[in-house]
Amino acid sequence: MIIKEMIPIVERLEREGYIKDKKVAEALLKVPRDKFVPEELRDYAYIDTPLSIGYGQTISAIHMVAMMCGALDLKEGHRVLEVGTGSGYHAAVVAEIVGKNGQVITIERIPKLAERAENVLRELGYDNVIVICGDGTLGYEPLAPYDRIYITAAGPDIPKPLIEQLKDGGKLVAPVGQYFQNLILLEKKGNKLIKKNLGEVAFVPLIGKEG
Ligand code: SAM
Repeated sequence: MIIKEMIPIVERLEREGYIKDKKVAEALLKVPRDKFVPEELRDYAYIDTPLSIGYGQTISAIHMVAMMCGALDLKEGHRVLEVGTGSGYHAAVVAEIVGKNGQVITIERIPKLAERAENVLRELGYDNVIVICGDGTLGYEPLAPYDRIYITAAGPDIPKPLIEQLKDGGKLVAPVGQYFQNLILLEKKGNKLIKKNLGEVAFVPLIGKEG
């Protein structure tokens, strides 16, 4: 099913260059963002802005989800680790792209958010998403290594365990910095880590042992 309220947003993001990959556009059109926001904010679900989801946290703006998915160059069948489940929306978009043969493992440190996200994802039938409650800066060793990793909260650096749990040839996207943050794309090639700055961003803080 296509979410008709999302059509003008996706068309604008394509025009403005935030979406270059058709798979990202298709995924955004399929995931009902209104199901992931608190009931009193449902009228704002199809506006491209972050919204409060409680506990001082936010669901990311639509263009940010699009941009991060594009930078990760997601493919069908990928196993992806997300640090910072929040509402579960971003995980659902990634789950659409990687498909039934892929998997999204998403970690959230706030138990109530993890529980709420898991319930929504189950209701919508995202069986290829596993929600873990814990400290995502440590990654999730039992299902490592990952083809792709992304962090949706900003820390001073990219946590080492996440780099270790990334496959050779894998890609990681994370906001890095304390006062001013940049979105960093990291590629692991053998023992080389190639970093590219994708521009300034603003995210909630990454709070954890390696954050
Ligand atoms: N991707 C989310 C969505 O679609 O709703 C938005 C996530 S929100 C911007 C960032 C989330 O990261 C918050 O829910 C916050 O609690 C979580 N977080 C911060 N530090 C964390 C950590 N060390 N481990 C797991 N989650 C963390």
